[in-house]
Amino acid sequence: MTTTIPTLPAPLGLLAELTHRCPLGCPYCSNPLELDKRSDELDTATWARVFHEAAALGVLQVHLSGGEPAARRDLEDIVQAARDASLYSNLITSAVGVTNERLLALSDAGLDHVQISIQDSTPESADHIAGYKGALARKQALAAEVVRLGLPLTVNVVVHRANIDHIEAMVDLALALGAGRVEIAHVQYYGWALKNRAALMPTREQVERAVGQVEAMRTRHHGRIVIDAVVPDYFARFPKPCVGGWGRRSINVTPAGKVLPCHAAEVIPGLEFWNVRAHSLGDIWRSSPAFNEFRGTGWMQEPCRSCVRKDKDFGGCRCQAFLLTGDARATDPVCHLSPHHALVEQLADVRADAPYSYRS
Ligand code: SF4
Ligand code: SF4
Repeated sequence: MTTTIPTLPAPLGLLAELTHRCPLGCPYCSNPLELDKRSDELDTATWARVFHEAAALGVLQVHLSGGEPAARRDLEDIVQAARDASLYSNLITSAVGVTNERLLALSDAGLDHVQISIQDSTPESADHIAGYKGALARKQALAAEVVRLGLPLTVNVVVHRANIDHIEAMVDLALALGAGRVEIAHVQYYGWALKNRAALMPTREQVERAVGQVEAMRTRHHGRIVIDAVVPDYFARFPKPCVGGWGRRSINVTPAGKVLPCHAAEVIPGLEFWNVRAHSLGDIWRSSPAFNEFRGTGWMQEPCRSCVRKDKDFGGCRCQAFLLTGDARATDPVCHLSPHHALVEQLADVRADAPYSYRS
């Protein structure tokens, strides 16, 4: 059953996945196993149109993501298009492949913010996780240049079993790099991360220790850096309000132009995604079957349907519900009220010291 909610909210953010190409091979990458080909990527003019349509819908920010967005030769033109559409642009980059000259050109084109991911606090471990020798050094060098140009910098850290014990050192590194914000994101098990789940899964003791360390660091570094962190899915009592609620807050456009309510939505079989090559973004937001499939609360089953939290977490993540239970309408099994919650507890106990399957 689809649901029409009385007033369609305006989306706030657009995730523009400009390309799936990336020089790194992070085993936690949430890109799909079947990556979009370069020959299928949207061209500059189409992105420019999409940005104008997004702004008309009420979108304020565009996150230029990938893969590695700098793999696109026209990234400066894309940034300029975002500026022309009056969108605040955030470049989400691995930093590998972005020279100082390129960064200056992006800044001149109107780039507003840079987010650099780091894999760990030491080169040996960071480069091993990224599957790229010299990656951390390149990130440190680019971060210095971002700060020198006066652009705001966020450092993003994806944590898992190999680096979760180094959270304090990674926040110290973010501070040393001049970041105003550090995002500590636990691996979300989609795409390549799902393939590597047993190799990435932290222990409960690691997670509990990390949660305490984050709280202590928030106090210690108050006023110096903002620390964003959430308890990882498999160890939480309640699920996260995935993408702020399906079809409520964000829009994700894939390199080939498919428009998704969340970046993992293609794992759910039977959803009909529309493409910006054939439809305007406004039309897709309002009318595409995939966006309307889980809007509102009418699609929910028990225990979500009668739960007081249903307008807070929207029943959790539809993709995770499908991946773990086979039913995209099920309560996210991360929720301790889900009849399938024991499965999450079992999976959180499965660890294997297997070599990573690097994203290729
Ligand atoms: S997670 Fe790693 S491999 Fe995936 S797009 Fe980001 S930098 Fe590239
Ligand atoms: S039962 Fe559903 S709505 Fe209630 S807390 Fe769990 S996931 Fe959220």
